[in-house]
Amino acid sequence: MEDDILTTLKILIIGESGVGKSSLLLRFTDDNFDPEQTLTIGVDFKTKRLNIDGNNVKLAIWDTAGQERFRTLTPSYYRDAQGAILVYDVCNYATFSKLETWLNELETYSTKRNIVKMVVANKIDMENREVSRDEGLHFAKKYKTLFIEASAKTRDGVQSAFEELVQQIIQTPDLWDS
Ligand code: GDP
Ligand code: MG
Repeated sequence: MEDDILTTLKILIIGESGVGKSSLLLRFTDDNFDPEQTLTIGVDFKTKRLNIDGNNVKLAIWDTAGQERFRTLTPSYYRDAQGAILVYDVCNYATFSKLETWLNELETYSTKRNIVKMVVANKIDMENREVSRDEGLHFAKKYKTLFIEASAKTRDGVQSAFEELVQQIIQTPDLWDS
């Protein structure tokens, strides 16, 4: 295992403040959920190994430390990322409306032409939903992104979100070969 050659992939998590970005990351890397999750987990990124279709990959997943609140993510945050997870909160329509802005940001700063995008509709465990699954799907189709509904709280969709993103990256030669 130790001498396996690992490709490292840089994955970003973006979206409005409070949508559950850090919670999704914590669920994925540590299988944990902290309802008291404060704004910042205080790290630039977390790593996790995955085996996808026989490919050993190491993910370096970059979380924002609250800067998204002020739209002050720097170009270095985006640089060289192969994949991006765009999160909105299904119980907060405004966070869904802002997705287009985040996509623009991504187009502006990402340095890889074919960066793979996964839209994650988070907090589906909650009762007071404001964004339907169809609206999410429609957005994803329009902007040619992957789409999944998820809950960092219940685990629904979390593992699949990351796995399907990586699968798509592996199938994109420009992103995988180097
Ligand atoms: P971030 O600002 O996007 O990183 O969002 P956080 O991960 O800090 O989450 C913001 C708040 O939403 C926290 O109180 C979380 O516990 C809560 N939260 C995150 N994901 C979920 C979820 O899937 N379901 C529920 N019910 N609450 C969530
Ligand atoms: Mg956060």
